[in-house]
Amino acid sequence: MRALIALLPGDGIGPEVTAQAARVLTAVGELYGHSFALREAPVGGIAIDQTGDPLPAETVALCQAADAVLLGAVGGPRWGPSALVRPEQGLLGLRRALAVFANLRPAVPHPRVAAASPLKPAVLRGVDVLIVRELTGGIYFGEKRREAGWAEDLCTYTEEEIARVVRVAARLAQSRRGRLTSVDKANVLETSRLWREVTTRVVREEFRGIELEHQLVDSCALRLVQQPAAFDVIVTENLFGDILTDLTAVLGGSIGMLPSASLGEEGGPGLYEPVHGSAPDIAGTGVANPYGAIGSVALLLRHSLHLEVEATAVEAAIAAALESGALTVDVADPDDRACSTGEIGDAVVAALSLHKETR
Ligand code: NAD
Repeated sequence: MRALIALLPGDGIGPEVTAQAARVLTAVGELYGHSFALREAPVGGIAIDQTGDPLPAETVALCQAADAVLLGAVGGPRWGPSALVRPEQGLLGLRRALAVFANLRPAVPHPRVAAASPLKPAVLRGVDVLIVRELTGGIYFGEKRREAGWAEDLCTYTEEEIARVVRVAARLAQSRRGRLTSVDKANVLETSRLWREVTTRVVREEFRGIELEHQLVDSCALRLVQQPAAFDVIVTENLFGDILTDLTAVLGGSIGMLPSASLGEEGGPGLYEPVHGSAPDIAGTGVANPYGAIGSVALLLRHSLHLEVEATAVEAAIAAALESGALTVDVADPDDRACSTGEIGDAVVAALSLHKETR
């Protein structure tokens, strides 16, 4: 296969973790006979410094022409929240330009890092949950008003916006354990009542084998902490998904462990990035955990390039590297020597070669 990958390292630890992810992607190409062309472009703070624009037109053009986009993270104290032009505008603009409406965040805690999670190992056993968050609608994109003494954020959803993200989630549930939990606040919100109606109809009419349950967002948050292994796929609107996905970050032991994929209509480029930010507090020290970025490469191979064997190989290499004790300081036992960001890349690339040899 020949594929063009847009590489957007961004700010802070973004370039450090994407360098390791790019190494793993290149190694997959060499081992499995694919030609992956990686082309780099600026986004976020570095793009503001270089061009004055957090999302230069050349970056958008490259991403739209690419088969997939691999991003690091954007932001940092140099471009403060009160600045008129902010790095985060680049990320939101990119999501809009690529029309990626479904954000996938899997959380599969590895036993080797269970000790780094505040949850008990027994609670984490068997957890394999995938949250599908609606990414381009709802209250984040609704009309906003502010006048003396009051403010307003409008939450709007159309049937089509709900149906298309539910279809993505239901298809994923079909390829997993066949269970879909739709999360809303239908006891209070009208948009949630529409969400529940549309979800029920789409699943009943188009996904017969799927076991669908509805859950209110507050009780879902409670159950995610008490019984995370009870979930397979969760689908929810933008605001609820934003909050619940941060909650699942604790399941993985560290925010640095978690990958994500943002998908639009079939055929368009997907956007792949670790869920963490630019972590300015540790940038440049070589300790950033690159597993989330490397895991995003597995998702890229699976969802944009449809290379399932290669995606599974990257996931197996991540698991093997973790089992061998290749851990950064955020997940390592305090008594063990922690690895640097580059050493994690070394361990995953070596495990990938071994995995290929033994197949
Ligand atoms: P953050 O995720 O950058 O950091 C939160 C904490 O987690 C920090 O203590 C950091 O050191 C740690 N951490 C994060 N990633 C890590 C990794 N890979 N390995 C080890 N430790 C890691 O969130 P924040 O501090 O709230 O935000 C910092 C900047 O990042 C802000 O400018 C924010 O706007 C931006 N941000 C960007 C994205 C994105 O690009 N998608 C997401 C969230 C925040």
